[in-house]
Amino acid sequence: MAGWDRLLGHEHTVARIRQMLSEGRLPHALLFYGKKGIGKRLAADILAESFLCLGRDAPCGTCASCTEYEAGTHPDFHLVEPEDGHRDIRIDQIRKMEQDASRMPMRSHGQAVIIDEAGTMNESAQNSLLKTLEEPSGNRLFILVTESRSSLLQTILSRVAQEGFAPLPVQVVSKYLIDNGVPEAKAAGLAALSMGSIGRAIELNDEGGLEIRNNVISVLMNIGRWDVNGIVSQGEFAADLTHAQLGSWIADLKMILRDMLVMYDGDGTKLYNEDIRPNLVGLLPTYTEHKLQALLGLVRMIEKRMFSNANARMQIEGLLLRMQDIIKD
Ligand SMILES: [Zn+2]
Repeated sequence: MAGWDRLLGHEHTVARIRQMLSEGRLPHALLFYGKKGIGKRLAADILAESFLCLGRDAPCGTCASCTEYEAGTHPDFHLVEPEDGHRDIRIDQIRKMEQDASRMPMRSHGQAVIIDEAGTMNESAQNSLLKTLEEPSGNRLFILVTESRSSLLQTILSRVAQEGFAPLPVQVVSKYLIDNGVPEAKAAGLAALSMGSIGRAIELNDEGGLEIRNNVISVLMNIGRWDVNGIVSQGEFAADLTHAQLGSWIADLKMILRDMLVMYDGDGTKLYNEDIRPNLVGLLPTYTEHKLQALLGLVRMIEKRMFSNANARMQIEGLLLRMQDIIKD
């Protein structure tokens, strides 16, 4: 796949941008904002390539400019992002980019800049960039990409055209996973948990996210009849999880309890765990509305102080015992 076809979803945004591009009225600075892993950066890359393209139907993928862009050697393209080992974009990176991007273009008719994770620019870096945005010179395109608009100064926000990227539909995420070799049943589960982010779905796949949710379901199915051994063996399972996986375990538990509560409302609201609705229906007889409220309160309370100190196993065991009290009540 080439050009804009590489980007999944976001049809309206892409159509608007392509139209501005073809009519030569693209703003000189844009901000792409939205959740992590939904295609903002890819969209910025395709737009930069299109802007620099020397062919027709940009990005043509075959002209000298596109070839260099795709090889990562384009002299008129400048990428700014936090450097390895740093959390933020520093002012000297912005100054260097401003210097580089003020030269005459060497390959294309202009210069293109992507500032990825733009929200990590500290205030002095943002102020330096602001001057450049205020005095557009030459044919330059700036694309800022961020997860959090609120990290950017109001003065910056007022000088960029803002394009919001919404979470992707579950079907789009699922199709991406299937196209990339994930079995269909697993893809549906990962997509449901991904909150519309392909990046998150891939992360979940790598972290065993589906196995973690399966474990939560099995706990909810069986905890009512567990003796001490059941609690201990679940504690051992928890002890083997990484910090991030424990976070997912708690988050899954919370969302499943929330889903079951929603089912009591019976208004057909879409569940977070829609793909396993039948499993949740099976659990409902055990979990009255009253018990779900109590469990959710317990999990929310535990979540706040959980994992701040080391012994996850003891904390999970403690949580399970209190859950048992509620369920058997
Ligand atoms: Zn081209």
